[in-house]
Amino acid sequence: MEQQTGEKRLGLALVGLGHYATDCIAVGLTSSAYWQLNAIVTGSHEKIPAWQNKWNIKEDRILNYEDFDRIRDCEDVDAVYICLPNSLHAEFTIRAAEAGKHVIVEKPMATNIEDAQRMIAACESAGVKLAVGYRLRFNRLHQQIANLGSTQAKGKVNFINAIFSIDVGPAEQWRLKKSLSGGGALIDVGIYGVQAARYITGKEPVAVTAQFGPVTDRVKFAEVEEHISWQMRFPGDIYMTGYAGYSGYLDELSIRSAGAIIKLDPAFSYGPLHGVVRDEKEHLLVIPHEHHQWKQMEDLGRLFLDPAPLPEVISGQEGLRDLQILLAIYQAAACGREISL
Ligand code: NAD
Repeated sequence: MEQQTGEKRLGLALVGLGHYATDCIAVGLTSSAYWQLNAIVTGSHEKIPAWQNKWNIKEDRILNYEDFDRIRDCEDVDAVYICLPNSLHAEFTIRAAEAGKHVIVEKPMATNIEDAQRMIAACESAGVKLAVGYRLRFNRLHQQIANLGSTQAKGKVNFINAIFSIDVGPAEQWRLKKSLSGGGALIDVGIYGVQAARYITGKEPVAVTAQFGPVTDRVKFAEVEEHISWQMRFPGDIYMTGYAGYSGYLDELSIRSAGAIIKLDPAFSYGPLHGVVRDEKEHLLVIPHEHHQWKQMEDLGRLFLDPAPLPEVISGQEGLRDLQILLAIYQAAACGREISL
């Protein structure tokens, strides 16, 4: 495990103590050399004792959503990590920025363009950093494939297929309420395929087409899509197809270039991820597994301690570009026509 080189540890506040905060981010933080969890923000009283005991959190560092602005006075909090339902990301990002705190916000950064723009503007005007929790940008396997389009190490990349589908679980949850989620499988897990196509090709799509899939449960999926397929055209005759689903697990990425076929399976979940390159031979992409959220937090620790701006690939602008594409895919599926970007 890499050790911190500087002396300072960054103080973090976790906003929302649901699945991702508890089972993923907090697990990564337990062995962090850069971060100290100094505050929690929750509306669930019953969750407080376990967190307080485990992390030794002071009484006045336990906030709720109403008194969240007290975060301004928590001098031992440098950054907040927002793990709330998607449509609440904007409000808490803006309140954190106004309190002078850096922000890490989960994907998708927002559910509409105006919110994403307001989040970016609030962080810019407060002089704080805004990172989107794109954990795979810190994953060494995805970092290996990220530049294939520009390096052409395996010849020109000409086709990408990305599939990510999960079992979403019970009907009574925010992911299935459009006002909280902004959409279904696409905005939740399809975002990984959109991201991957952009970072593999190093290009922006020029047009999208899309089709909603069948609905197996009209009550559960009354507000958001259960399945969706989409296609993205990139400059230079590069083509991507994607699928996102909420009923059954499937998790694969294929890249075809002039000189090779590269496959990741699983590709987007928490790993260990597996990669294979087939050119004249077949080689495994052997990358030691690192806990995704631990790796993300350690790299973010270094980046937040550095006064330089964050890399573009995890910035608010990147989150906004993804959102513009995701919303264009929804528009294409709804109208049945190609949408230019
Ligand atoms: P979750 O439902 O487990 O947790 C959400 C938390 O928000 C809960 O603690 C809940 O009490 C709280 N909350 C506050 N106001 C709420 C409201 N009005 N309605 C419902 N809940 C409310 O969800 P999660 O899986 O932890 O997802 C949280 C965020 O993390 C989402 O943006 C999601 O996209 C993201 N996420 C990212 C990854 C990843 O791999 N990067 C994985 C899972 C989730």
